[in-house]
Amino acid sequence: MKNFITLIALALMPAAALAETVAPPPPKWSLAIHGGAGTLNRDAMTPEKRAAYEAALQVALDAGAKVLAEGGSAMDAVKAAIIPMEDSPLFNAGRGAVFTWDGTNELDSSIMDGRDRSAGAVAGVKTVRNPILLADKVRTASPHVMLMGTGAEQFAAEQGFAVTPPEYFATPARREALERMKAEQLSALDVDHKFGTVGAVALDQNGNLAAGTSTGGMTGKRWGRVGDAPVIGAGTYADNRACAVSATGWGEYFIRVGVAHEICARLRAVGEFKAVAEDVSDEIPAEVGMDEAQYIADAVMADVAGLGGDGGVILVTPDGRAIFSFNTSGMNRGRATSAGVNEVAIFGDEDKASATPDH
Ligand code: ASP
Repeated sequence: MKNFITLIALALMPAAALAETVAPPPPKWSLAIHGGAGTLNRDAMTPEKRAAYEAALQVALDAGAKVLAEGGSAMDAVKAAIIPMEDSPLFNAGRGAVFTWDGTNELDSSIMDGRDRSAGAVAGVKTVRNPILLADKVRTASPHVMLMGTGAEQFAAEQGFAVTPPEYFATPARREALERMKAEQLSALDVDHKFGTVGAVALDQNGNLAAGTSTGGMTGKRWGRVGDAPVIGAGTYADNRACAVSATGWGEYFIRVGVAHEICARLRAVGEFKAVAEDVSDEIPAEVGMDEAQYIADAVMADVAGLGGDGGVILVTPDGRAIFSFNTSGMNRGRATSAGVNEVAIFGDEDKASATPDH
């Protein structure tokens, strides 16, 4: 009856008023990026260094935001944001990757499409300039999800990727970190104090989610060690029904908790519960809100901390919330939304806005 009355009212409205009433809501998109979490000491960071990190984060954020603002896909936005960070020597991904114990740079990366949960990943590649692009190629042009080492490089060659000389990835600062680690018998954490992995998560105007992560791993890694970044469900996960997550931190712990999938699974369970509960109760709203997403991300990060691990995550929800959660003193990060939020931050107390695209 109510619907019938609404229909009659719409039929009687003048055309201009009708156009106003049924005009679609403005497009909504959202993006979050990270460039690693860790023990970041304000006093030890010079203004120049800070400005350099903020500028590099802004370049990545703007590249991804441009894709989304122009109506591009979340997948393309994730790649657009990650590529400049892989190319920047400031981050532990692509050029500027940390060194293995044997003095090489071995790169890991993964990407996931929330539409169909298709995913691609590579581990231990040494000659591919942008591992995120190779991960995506694994997703689209192979029957597999994860390729490693020389096999991944053979696949890259067959797919037309140029061979980048290994020296391209090596930077003096990362080499010095390995040398210091060996000389002073330090752990990877003691020598770095931070994780420089990069990642991006996005919601596009069609409501699709995507996540991607890229890293050189941890300084002094041995025996073909692979961290969480290329592990779908640990460092990266995207599911249109729940969220898109990218992680950075002590990879062993993120693998053990299954961080990215754990966050998405809990969020999906809350949504499913609410959908059912709404049928039997008027009290519970169906939408999964900011509080739940932040609460769940914080709870999963607390689980990581409980095991002894540290680091952080970025996530974007289907309703466009861009969220950070980390248990370190800082995380290189940024977020942008269709509501006009555009910010980069480094230390824990610096987020200015609640990044929710409310229209
Ligand atoms: N998660 C990465 C790894 O364990 C390290 C990082 O976040 O920088 O390989």
